[in-house]
Amino acid sequence: MREVKEVVVISGKGGTGKTSLAASFAVLADRPVIADCDVDAADLHLILKPRIRERREFRCGNEAVIRREDCIGCGACLDYCRFGAVARSADDPALFVIDPVACEGCGVCVRFCPVEAIDFPERICGEWMISDTRCGPMVHARLAAAAENSGKLVSTVRTEARRLAEEGNRSLIIVDGPPGIGCPVIASVTGASFVVVVTEPTVAGEHDLKRVLALARHFGIPAHVCINKWDLNPEAADRIEEGVRKEGAFMAGRIRYDRSVTLAQMQEKAAVETDAPSAEDIRRIWKKMMEDGGINERKRIG
Ligand code: SF4
Ligand code: SF4
Repeated sequence: MREVKEVVVISGKGGTGKTSLAASFAVLADRPVIADCDVDAADLHLILKPRIRERREFRCGNEAVIRREDCIGCGACLDYCRFGAVARSADDPALFVIDPVACEGCGVCVRFCPVEAIDFPERICGEWMISDTRCGPMVHARLAAAAENSGKLVSTVRTEARRLAEEGNRSLIIVDGPPGIGCPVIASVTGASFVVVVTEPTVAGEHDLKRVLALARHFGIPAHVCINKWDLNPEAADRIEEGVRKEGAFMAGRIRYDRSVTLAQMQEKAAVETDAPSAEDIRRIWKKMMEDGGINERKRIG
């Protein structure tokens, strides 16, 4: 079986051009599997236009639901709930109701209800899909409104992407990771071959980059940095590049500010599928990164 490498595109915050870059990488890669792990704000599908072939529910724990007809109104659930999820019913103050958003699924009320009037069904927190795109198979997901546990959903998406890669004899997974340094990001990067960190030449960008590089270092994952829109502040870009070298990360390259990237997105295309000037920068970055990251199989990219 071929070794499967996994490249995860992340950023310190949203809106840095991470997804746009991940889409271009998906186009440039040779027979990749694509995984959208930005499950809280998935939008890679807007560029890659997946055709869904399989759809599965994502279950994450349980939620308590009182059966009104069996409740005797003793109030034990109200007393025991430490999450403020139980309240008196508005239409019948002698009975109680549970707020599904506030319920943490701990099960204490279920255990202590004297008449077993509380059901504890599995909670459906979203769905994940396997789709076909023009670049290869894609695994993506949608987290339900107010649902938590996106780290578990990210892990599910990655596991499925790896399974598809192994079954289809594909050697590269391109992952659009979540922004920030929280649980979903950790779930996205652990065990990855390397991360690509997209940043911008601003004070906030420099600060966020340091935190993301510290995270990658903590997990022992090589990091390659791209400075997007570098020409908006060349001095800050120079400073970032110097900082990247000091941190022991790789400098993958710089991408110029390019309005036509937005136009490409409106046409549901990645920048490298158009004549956007920045496409040249992205191709150069991809080539360098694949060489530095030890991934040699790729399309000819000029
Ligand atoms: S503990 Fe059971 S019986 Fe008592 S109020 Fe809650 S649901 Fe009703
Ligand atoms: S399951 Fe736990 S969090 Fe949910 S209502 Fe019961 S006690 Fe509260």
